[in-house]
Amino acid sequence: MKVLQAYKYAIDHTPRDERGLRSHAGAKRFAWNWGLARCRERHDAEGKWYSAAELHKLWNTEKKQDPALAWWSENSKCAYQEAFRDLERALRDFVKSKKGQRKGKRLGFPRFKKRGKCRDSFRFGAGVMRCEGTTVTLPRLGTLRTHESTEELASLVRAGRARILSATVSRTAQRWFVSFAVEVERDVPEAHARPGTAIGIDLGVKTLLTAVDNTGNIIEIPGQKPLRASLRKLRRASRDCSRKQKGSNRRRKAAERLARIHARAASVREDALHKATTQLAARYETVVAEDLNVTGMTANRKLARAVADQGFGEARRMLACKTERNGGVLVVADRWYPSSKTCSSCGGRKPSLTLKDRIYACDHCGHTEDRDVNAARNLLKLAASGAESENACGGTVRPGLAGRVPVKQEPGTAHAGKTGTVPAQAGTADEH
Ligand SMILES: [Zn+2]
Repeated sequence: MKVLQAYKYAIDHTPRDERGLRSHAGAKRFAWNWGLARCRERHDAEGKWYSAAELHKLWNTEKKQDPALAWWSENSKCAYQEAFRDLERALRDFVKSKKGQRKGKRLGFPRFKKRGKCRDSFRFGAGVMRCEGTTVTLPRLGTLRTHESTEELASLVRAGRARILSATVSRTAQRWFVSFAVEVERDVPEAHARPGTAIGIDLGVKTLLTAVDNTGNIIEIPGQKPLRASLRKLRRASRDCSRKQKGSNRRRKAAERLARIHARAASVREDALHKATTQLAARYETVVAEDLNVTGMTANRKLARAVADQGFGEARRMLACKTERNGGVLVVADRWYPSSKTCSSCGGRKPSLTLKDRIYACDHCGHTEDRDVNAARNLLKLAASGAESENACGGTVRPGLAGRVPVKQEPGTAHAGKTGTVPAQAGTADEH
């Protein structure tokens, strides 16, 4: 079966590499802004925008005529082309959102990107994209050293079992990363190795996850210790940052430090999630997890909560892919399914339960249990409800759509439907 998968590597760049990386990020920003300005002009005059293809054509003419744009040839033409595609999609999403055809938060009109204020990133949708040993090779940028080995992907490509569709390069804190969108041919077992097994998972704040399986085993994965340590650091760094004068060098440095700590906390959490989800998907045929109102949650101002929230979406994506790969299935509970507010013993409801209430105490039958365990039990019940199963991770790969590969599902577009399985989507890089 063909699945879409992302392989992400940190780049150990030289100063020369970095000039190229920054130049491409600048080119992408410029092209976006240039295209957006053209679209606005046309919209004011004719009431419509340019498509990505039209913008690309316009750009090709103008870049040769305007001597001020002579630097264009320093960067791969992909950087510009993909920026126009991004812009086209942003405009389309804006219209959809306005018409109420798009789930999640209302989107505003695309904005101009400002250096230092926007995320540095660009994409290659064509050209030489390769990896080998501890290197990746990209158009224009040439061969770059990676922090970890790229051999797993390289050997899949050599064996003809994987095809690189696009490469997105981005910067987080002071590190650059390349993420390949890859179409991979995977052998998926017809049935799970342990048929009949099921587990309900409650993703938590205090613990990474709490789960109850069909034999009544309670599994708690703490895994949050390093996260808690970095939370302390985060709190201090963010206080430090806000005390410095705006626009000052010190503020910039404090902000960089804060971003680094953020990035590290995220990668610690991601690692822990990968390990946990790999094990669970191998051991249980049916995994039940909650759907989460990701948009609503990121608005939460509590730091611990906010950091944990980001993990929910990731965990669900990982589970979707990994259960499928093991011949199992992920059942996603409707986000309104009251898993924490329901008594797992008698089914009674508790109308008000705040995050502070760590123990669930039932008013009807007196059942008392850890809040997360109670929630996990309720989720497990859904496994028996016979929800149907389908492809979880990218059964609908359409080759040749390099620029539009949904490598990551955006928060806010999360599946909001009924209890059932997760729709086709790409996972993030697996197997660390
Ligand atoms: Zn009860």
